[in-house]
Amino acid sequence: MQQHNFIKRPDKRLKCKICEWDWASKTNTLCPGVIRYSWGCQPSHLKDEVDLHKQNLKPKKGVKPSGCYYSMNRNEWTWFYDQKDCDLDNPELPPIVQWDNLGELKTVGQLKKINLAPSEETKPRGVAWVWDKDAEWGVWIPLYHEDDCKWNPKDGWITKFQLQKTYLLSRGWIKQLGEPDKCLENPRYPNAPSIKLYSRKRVEQFLANNAEEYAEWLDKRDKYIAIFEANKDKIFAKRNAAKEQTKMCLKCASGCSAPEGFLCAIHPMGLIDMPCPDFSERVN
Ligand SMILES: [Zn+2]
Repeated sequence: MQQHNFIKRPDKRLKCKICEWDWASKTNTLCPGVIRYSWGCQPSHLKDEVDLHKQNLKPKKGVKPSGCYYSMNRNEWTWFYDQKDCDLDNPELPPIVQWDNLGELKTVGQLKKINLAPSEETKPRGVAWVWDKDAEWGVWIPLYHEDDCKWNPKDGWITKFQLQKTYLLSRGWIKQLGEPDKCLENPRYPNAPSIKLYSRKRVEQFLANNAEEYAEWLDKRDKYIAIFEANKDKIFAKRNAAKEQTKMCLKCASGCSAPEGFLCAIHPMGLIDMPCPDFSERVN
């Protein structure tokens, strides 16, 4: 700050030749040494440091401002620099993107919502500027493209039932997957077996590692189901026949209940044909 260099204007107001500000009468303020502009009236090539930062620019070392603004409310000077007196602030900074024009780029938070995360070595494809209230300065938010990201689901817990029902895993597959990651006591039935929980991340990683086999298994499984669907009637008919036969055996004169179970005197090794040709109703 320095002393103003006053001249008297034709309208009798005092004007400083340096800062070009004017007063009705003498002032005891100091001169900023560069042209002082009213709010928003500086020429467009003059920017304050925040606006320069938004363009990844900073004033060159030792460069003097080319203008200023004084805020009465904040009792604070803001200095303006000519863009041609500036250097790149961070030469490594990825391209600057505006928030209303992100295109296909996303923030880490947005990616997280769709279970993606940038890989460790991934460089952002762009950055967008935000004001950090705590730091009282701007920060660059990195932006990534989905193609540069890896699958990163939020971890959750999957029950054994869900492994079978949702992931269509057989017992063999579940065995391959290995021990559950967590066991929970059943709060309602203390004597019931504990609930086995598997980490969703681990299950999905496991399936990804065995993708080919898993796809084959799903294919095979569908075939099994198709075969079952086609032969359902026959399979159930056989089961029903077995049920009916059991009822008959219980009523049959050749059968008796023993401590080892139900025994038949004629067919001790079990029946081959149903219904049993040797049935004769027991008479008490
Ligand atoms: Zn002045």
